[in-house]
Amino acid sequence: MSYKKLKKLFEEQSLINDISGILNWDMATYMPENSRKQRIKQITKLYDYKKNIFNVIKKNEFFQKVNEFQLNEFDKINFELMKNKFDYFNSIPTDKLKKKAKLSIECEGLWREAREKSNFNIVKNSFAKLVELIKEESEILSQIKNKKKYDCLLLKYDRSLDSNKLLKLFNRIEKFIKKNLPLIIKKQKNIELNDYLNEQEQFKLSKIFMKHLGFDFSRGRIDKSLHPFCGGGTQDVRITTRFSEDDSFSCFDALMHETGHALYEQGLPKKWAYQPIGSAGGMSLHESQSLFIEMQIIKSLPVSQFIQKTLVDKIGKNPSIWSSEVIYNLRNNVKPGFIRVDSDEVHYPLHIIHRFNIEYKIIEEDAKVENLPDLWNEEFSKILRLDVNNDKNGCLQDIHWYGGDFGYFPTYSIGAFVAAQLAFKVRKKFIDFDLNLEEGNFKPIIKWLRQNVHSKGNLYKIDELLTESTEENLSLKYFENHIIGRYIKKKI
Ligand SMILES: [Zn+2]
Repeated sequence: MSYKKLKKLFEEQSLINDISGILNWDMATYMPENSRKQRIKQITKLYDYKKNIFNVIKKNEFFQKVNEFQLNEFDKINFELMKNKFDYFNSIPTDKLKKKAKLSIECEGLWREAREKSNFNIVKNSFAKLVELIKEESEILSQIKNKKKYDCLLLKYDRSLDSNKLLKLFNRIEKFIKKNLPLIIKKQKNIELNDYLNEQEQFKLSKIFMKHLGFDFSRGRIDKSLHPFCGGGTQDVRITTRFSEDDSFSCFDALMHETGHALYEQGLPKKWAYQPIGSAGGMSLHESQSLFIEMQIIKSLPVSQFIQKTLVDKIGKNPSIWSSEVIYNLRNNVKPGFIRVDSDEVHYPLHIIHRFNIEYKIIEEDAKVENLPDLWNEEFSKILRLDVNNDKNGCLQDIHWYGGDFGYFPTYSIGAFVAAQLAFKVRKKFIDFDLNLEEGNFKPIIKWLRQNVHSKGNLYKIDELLTESTEENLSLKYFENHIIGRYIKKKI
């Protein structure tokens, strides 16, 4: 009985998250710029409702009244996940949570101005206050969970991760990339193109591919924002993209990435909807789904052939200019740069390791955020061997920290490693894998993802899910082999 009541209350809590998701989507797309203060009130109000739900649970001692032995295996996991969420809200005072929500939105607003003007000083004070709160939060969690402060922040985004595991993976991949980069760059063909895709053409190409991939337009939509993202609520996926005149595939690539996220959301198990077990299995798995589509599928050579066919047949492009080799090489160009979101997949983990090192220093070693630009630039030249020339190209490029997200960055690279492992398995399973891709027939692959990843919701940790679907724990060799196959042993 108490478990049923808990399920009902968690459903309410999940609906509040949906409302928050739509408000946040609106804030990033259509909200007028001077409405931010009003939006802060609305979003922080939702925290009161959430807190009320957790107070009802606490007052009635619902968790203590549940007999875990009477629950089936799925409900047991759901119950554990409920407890994790409850523990978080129960241990952090509501005042702190609301203050953090308010400061995050304010700080994010100042970050937009600071980034525009490439001046960290604009956001410095607000950011320092926000970081103080996050450190206090991590301290409270650390004492309750008896874990490192940074690990408690990681757990908010992925229950499979800890900093020791990350250090091992990141050390190995950093060495691998640094060792192979010179050869990758040497083997590269640089492409000059006498044509480009305008916004309308990119959008048309994207929509054709989204339909082929199975995006459900009756339960989702596309809009524009500064940074592409996938948000919204249950049964209502909002994805956004951006457009750049210098890059014929910027809007397309962003949409393919976000479609991967959206397919995951749209494929989550309906029987567990609104329950913790029915939500996504952490941000690394979420990212594995977007990178599976973007990097493993859409940027492959066979799909480049389908892109070429679509550009010629549906958009009227000249096939001698837009050959599949040109499309493939253009979209898999490897070059160092300052900006993470513009990075190729070889340099990308270096950007993540750079962020990981800095946030670890801030949370665990009390590095002063007032000196963030110096810290950023120093670390950047060590890992990416580039001297950062301004704050816009440096510590102001990403929204995450200024929105209060510490411990999020590592999930991007873990997602890339998981995606490579899943893709290896799928490629082995379907003999006509490449042929299907050449024809734009993604159905069997998406069906496999639905069965092995999407429909599992939050049932498994990463290693459990990978063992079920690929008979192996997370292994870096698949990502490394993917990089060697695509950039060193490549045939064109
Ligand atoms: Zn993503």
